[in-house]
Amino acid sequence: MAPQAAIPPGLAEAPDQVFATVGPELREAARRLGPRRIVLQVPAGLVRNASELAARLREEIGVPVDLASRACFGACDPPLADEAPRADLAIVLGHAPIPNAPRVRTTFFVEMREPAGDVPALAEVIASSPIPRRLGLVGSVQHLDLLPPLEAALRDRGFRPRVGRGDRRLAYAGQALGCNYTGAEEIAGEVEALLFVGTGRFHPLGLAFAVDRPVWSVDPLRGQLDGPIDRGELVRRRQLLVASVRDARRWGILVSTFPGQHRSPTALALQQRARARGREAEILLAQRLDPGDLLGRDVDAFVCTACPRIALDDSANYPKPVLTPPEFLMALGELPLEPYRFDTYH
Ligand code: SF4
Repeated sequence: MAPQAAIPPGLAEAPDQVFATVGPELREAARRLGPRRIVLQVPAGLVRNASELAARLREEIGVPVDLASRACFGACDPPLADEAPRADLAIVLGHAPIPNAPRVRTTFFVEMREPAGDVPALAEVIASSPIPRRLGLVGSVQHLDLLPPLEAALRDRGFRPRVGRGDRRLAYAGQALGCNYTGAEEIAGEVEALLFVGTGRFHPLGLAFAVDRPVWSVDPLRGQLDGPIDRGELVRRRQLLVASVRDARRWGILVSTFPGQHRSPTALALQQRARARGREAEILLAQRLDPGDLLGRDVDAFVCTACPRIALDDSANYPKPVLTPPEFLMALGELPLEPYRFDTYH
């Protein structure tokens, strides 16, 4: 194998940068940095146009651009060193940086901000619904720019909107991250309901698990308001799953080595708790968790220390029930079933 070229001096230490879209600023910043090779990673929803974008970047920046075949779920799983060994710059689409996640290489985060949305019309739709007036606002990173004007428009209509900052895993105040809704948790005591600004069900469901408040959502592109989500039903289903594995003897503790999902200390602590309660618990390491790799194992149930949404959203794809760490402690009898605790990744 040919020896690997050293990363140009200065590039390895260059700070990560954030861009709203793939535009001239990004291309100019990349040219200034002078990478020898770039790796481009896109989320699953954008793979259709990924080759075209890679070709454009190749031409416009003037260096080779490799396209990562593994789609990213979040800023927690960027292309790893061995997945793109020759790239000295990564461009990751669709996610804000996770400020406290370890760096793999210098990365440009393209947040794909979506400015569209008629704020007065959205405020009218919201104000004409029965949604409570003391309202917490949360948005996906794509629609975060709408939060300040929407907050002002709702205030003008008699609302008392609040936006929480959240902890150090979040890049922005009001930001929804699938594993961390600490901005909403922070203001939960001051609001009667939460309003998610964005598209899809992923974040509204996560918010409902994380915070015991009715969750509504408004789609800024379609101007449609939905909600509230029945949190009781969601939580009951998880509690039933926990109850079903209370007597499980053999546990698999799943660990992912993706830099922003890697919780080995949590896994070791859970293993100790399990053993103290007379259970067997084996730690199973993977980079990307694959349900197929877990088939045929002598295990009654799993607890997942990687992305918390694997247990909540994808458990049905796994050969045995998958719990989050707090649910596992409920199953061991170390935490009560109520109040239900979301597995916040700090
Ligand atoms: S851990 Fe899961 S929810 Fe959190 S950023 Fe990564 S993929 Fe998203």
